[in-house]
Amino acid sequence: MDREVRQQIARSIVVVEDRDANEPEHRFRATASLLDPLSAPQLALFRRAVRTRYQAGDARLLCGKCGKPVYVSLSGAGDPEDRDGRDAFFAHHPGTADDCEWGVVGQNPRDIDRLKYGGATEGTQHQRLKAMLATMLETDPAFSEVKVEHVISRPPHWRKPDVAATFFHGLVAFDLQLATTQLPAIIAREEFYQSHGIRYVWVTSTDDARNLARQAFQDIYWNNDAQIFGIDARAEAVTLASGELHLWALTVAPRLDASGLRSVWERRLVRRSDIDWQTPSGRPRFPGADFDTTVRALIETRFAGPRQRLVNAARRSEYAAYLEAGYAWDEIARAVGAPFWVTTEQDRVFKAIGVLASAAAGRKIDASAFTSEQLTAIFNDLLETKACRGWTTALQHIAQTHGHGALLDAASTRKKIARNLAEEHPDLHRRYGVMLDIIFPKSARSRLSGPPSEIEEAHYPG
Ligand SMILES: [Zn+2]
Repeated sequence: MDREVRQQIARSIVVVEDRDANEPEHRFRATASLLDPLSAPQLALFRRAVRTRYQAGDARLLCGKCGKPVYVSLSGAGDPEDRDGRDAFFAHHPGTADDCEWGVVGQNPRDIDRLKYGGATEGTQHQRLKAMLATMLETDPAFSEVKVEHVISRPPHWRKPDVAATFFHGLVAFDLQLATTQLPAIIAREEFYQSHGIRYVWVTSTDDARNLARQAFQDIYWNNDAQIFGIDARAEAVTLASGELHLWALTVAPRLDASGLRSVWERRLVRRSDIDWQTPSGRPRFPGADFDTTVRALIETRFAGPRQRLVNAARRSEYAAYLEAGYAWDEIARAVGAPFWVTTEQDRVFKAIGVLASAAAGRKIDASAFTSEQLTAIFNDLLETKACRGWTTALQHIAQTHGHGALLDAASTRKKIARNLAEEHPDLHRRYGVMLDIIFPKSARSRLSGPPSEIEEAHYPG
């Protein structure tokens, strides 16, 4: 067994807390950074010093996971005549290992991933991509001090991103997302970096839409403007040739066809300077492919006329308005395969559109006799009408996506919403989803039925 493999197996403790550290940023250290540089004599001295401190009841080094003291071990580490710090590892003192997830070799999540994904397949790909990303960052003079698996110490917490670098006087951390990271870890990492003002980038290798549909990816990109960055050999080649970091921006983009709106992945190779690195969340984004903007543009091109006529008609109560609305509705419905106006009577679509438009606009738009001060009454009236109770989810959704969720906060409204959701009503939000996408484009993205199933190359820019 070669040294590297042996080290991977033995070093289940990958980070230690050094109580002697003078600076908080050195308090948590990667095991490799402490042990690897030691020659045989230095290792012997270090082993003894760590042991002496422990026996004096003043342990210097603690496990980065459970906080219990650790010692420097060489058990089973090859030939004693050819050993140095690279062969050493940290271990828990006897009887203290059982409660720690790093306590027993093979229980570290890293090892579990390795078992779960059949040997070293993912590990190898992960290593390769880490090295590739580091090379790409080193090529771009905007990044300096590029480090792989460097521990970022912010007591009482630490993180070990796959790659970290200094960028515009701040830190930027990169993690390669390879489908095994669980949601609690994703949230914890994003919060750690955000709270310490460190920019944080998720990077994937994938150009496979099925892989991107995995939950671990969805947990990331639906919370990050429906986009994620990627690297591959081509991104690396362009980066090396141009001297500027290039990443694939994978963005969820809308398409309009005979069954309404659907989504695809668009893939563009973008420059570091095309990326917005100063977002409030600290997670950079490519601003050039905004889903909502594109939906609006698609709908303006195809349906501006009937959409406007439909919403205008819903402001008026006379029968002529009802008929006008019907013509406009059918013009759209025919193009996207939605139910025709004559079939919508029972669901009181005409009434609903006026109320939903009021929720979207944050002011009275509908044809009812209520005054413009009586917005709550307008919503409550829809929620109370028997035939309209199936619109409850649509009303909530449209109010929220237009920034007016608070309009439904009145106690009387909340009560009706809870009642309607508990009752069995036809799901009109789904039944008319295709039409609602077009009438209320701002709500379309969060109505998508799932992740895109294909990837299209998009031209850059735009
Ligand atoms: Zn531990």
